[in-house]
Amino acid sequence: MALSSVATEARSVTKIYGSGANQVKAIDDVSFSVRRGEFVALVGPSGSGKTTMLAMLAGLLEPSSGSVLIEDEDMLKMGEGRRAAFRRRRIGFTFQANNLVSYLTALENVELMLRLTDQHDQANRQRAQNLLAMLGLEDRMHALPRELSGGQQQRVAIARSLINNPAVVLADEPTASLDTERAFQVVETMAHLVHEQGRAGIMVTHDLRMVDYTDRIIHLLDGRLERIVTPDDDLTCLADPAACQLITEDALSSGGSEVAEAVS
Ligand code: ADP
Ligand code: MG
Repeated sequence: MALSSVATEARSVTKIYGSGANQVKAIDDVSFSVRRGEFVALVGPSGSGKTTMLAMLAGLLEPSSGSVLIEDEDMLKMGEGRRAAFRRRRIGFTFQANNLVSYLTALENVELMLRLTDQHDQANRQRAQNLLAMLGLEDRMHALPRELSGGQQQRVAIARSLINNPAVVLADEPTASLDTERAFQVVETMAHLVHEQGRAGIMVTHDLRMVDYTDRIIHLLDGRLERIVTPDDDLTCLADPAACQLITEDALSSGGSEVAEAVS
């Protein structure tokens, strides 16, 4: 059987937190897929469900309904041992808290992922060093996390997420603690690696300047998939969803003719 070019797919995924009066529908019937070699931005205002969606793609959180596939496999149907091994090998992720091991150096943190998957040989050690160098850390490889800035730690976490050649790379606000120049550099490197190595990359970001490096932009609003656009489309509604919402609501309540005026 030939592998499909779809690396990850969300099928009618809904996630409800809590129960009774405290229920929050964080993700509401969302479907999309990301192909190998495609770098996608997941955007939306705070609370729109981006982290929740990413955690479900990573197999760290179970959807209330619907399913998530990685390379046509549903991790929730695996036993726990196999799921953990599958996740380590096939998914790389960086979450907002970077969770570096405090007593290991930058290089050792990246190599740890190789050790955990029995791939710790000389060639892969060299790859770990090359990856850190690509991310601008050539001089910091032997520093401990506490000796690194927040942005440097974030870049170590990105290197760690890529070292096992995962099919799917997930990053939650990878540029949040980086200065502008470094942010562009890191996202450009991620885009390059995703494209070059045929991975599926999904990056949550608040920073719309970063979407230029992506192939498609998935816009979440209140847990729903609002729209999917490309960086070449008009991104006004992404920058200011509230304004676009208002226009839509005005259009519904007053019959549409004012919309042209409101927009022009
Ligand atoms: P984003 O990453 O876009 O800011 P989140 O996925 O963190 O959004 O949150 C989506 C919604 O789900 C928010 O209303 C948030 O308050 C709620 N939420 C997130 N995590 C939990 C949780 N563990 N328990 C209850 N509600 C949660
Ligand atoms: Mg978040």
